[in-house]
Amino acid sequence: MFKAILISNDNQTYQAKLSQLNQTQLPSGDVTVKISYSSLNYKDGLAISGKGPVVRSFPMVPGIDFVGTIIQSQSAQYKVGDNVLLNGWGVGERHWGGLAQFASVDSQWLIPMPVKFTEKQTMAIGTAGYTAMLAVMALEKNGITPQSGKILVTGANGGVGSFAIAILAKLGYQVTASTGRVQEHDYLMQLGANEIIDRNELSSPGKPLQKERWAGVIDSVGSHTLANACASTIYGGTVAACGLAQGMDFNSSVAPFILRGITLAGIDSVMRCYADRIDAWQRLSDLLDSSLLDKISTEISLSDVITTIPQLMQGKIRGRIIVDVN
Ligand code: NDP
Repeated sequence: MFKAILISNDNQTYQAKLSQLNQTQLPSGDVTVKISYSSLNYKDGLAISGKGPVVRSFPMVPGIDFVGTIIQSQSAQYKVGDNVLLNGWGVGERHWGGLAQFASVDSQWLIPMPVKFTEKQTMAIGTAGYTAMLAVMALEKNGITPQSGKILVTGANGGVGSFAIAILAKLGYQVTASTGRVQEHDYLMQLGANEIIDRNELSSPGKPLQKERWAGVIDSVGSHTLANACASTIYGGTVAACGLAQGMDFNSSVAPFILRGITLAGIDSVMRCYADRIDAWQRLSDLLDSSLLDKISTEISLSDVITTIPQLMQGKIRGRIIVDVN
């Protein structure tokens, strides 16, 4: 028997609770992993609260990422005892995920755990840090350098936002953090932000072209914030869109694209190929100091998950929540 969060949807009653499951209930997969840590991402909040159509089949074990050790393997690539990491691939949405003590998955979805970090540190970074890295790499690919100008990071206190600030600052970029929690000024400055703006400046409908302010943007908020970010990006700049914390809508105009030649780069971490994942995690290993990870993360146990979700959905969590599943 093992512990897991289990989401059910019987007779129109959507419910998530800490449950005892039998290992024989695990879905098929060519590897079984004894999980050490998972984490809480915005998508896990949508899945557990039922506020977004994230879960595709029931019952479902949520948890879009985890680290752990292989205990059974029919894969040529991994052997018993290997430390592995999983981000995305529909785990916690279509396939039982990481908020459990065991998972059975397709070995193609795994990557070896980065050697620089402990299991806990790896999950402090988790899908949020990996996504922030992909977004920074998209800016770089489009030629945005520290000399290009300021970079706007929205949803600054969140997981993706916190890591985007830390990575950009380490690379020498000037970072403007947009947040609804300006009282977290010290935290954002410690991560490496150079200035902080109130997210209300960006969250209402605005003009299609505004004063040119940002050479690049990493946006985890969507909606009017993304539209205003595009409208105030400088000639030739790049906006990396990775999230929808404000909303899924995007009411913009073509003006910034055809008059300022800006690029809107979509960031998807879920279906990324193996090579991109390895590259992103290598960059994270090169760039992030272990001491920073303690600053960004808080640890909870599996039994705290359900009660923590409302805070996550209300945007009250700072940085990342790591879940010790054991
Ligand atoms: P978090 O919940 O950690 O952070 C979201 C942040 O967004 C909050 O901390 C808050 O920051 C801000 N925010 C919350 N509500 C609103 C609102 N109504 N209006 C404006 N800002 C708001 O989430 P994550 O960092 O884990 O994820 C951020 C987004 O990125 C999510 O939408 C998530 O689904 C998406 N994502 C996408 C991935 C991909 O592959 N594309 C992968 C990972 C995440 P503050 O208080 O500072 O304003």
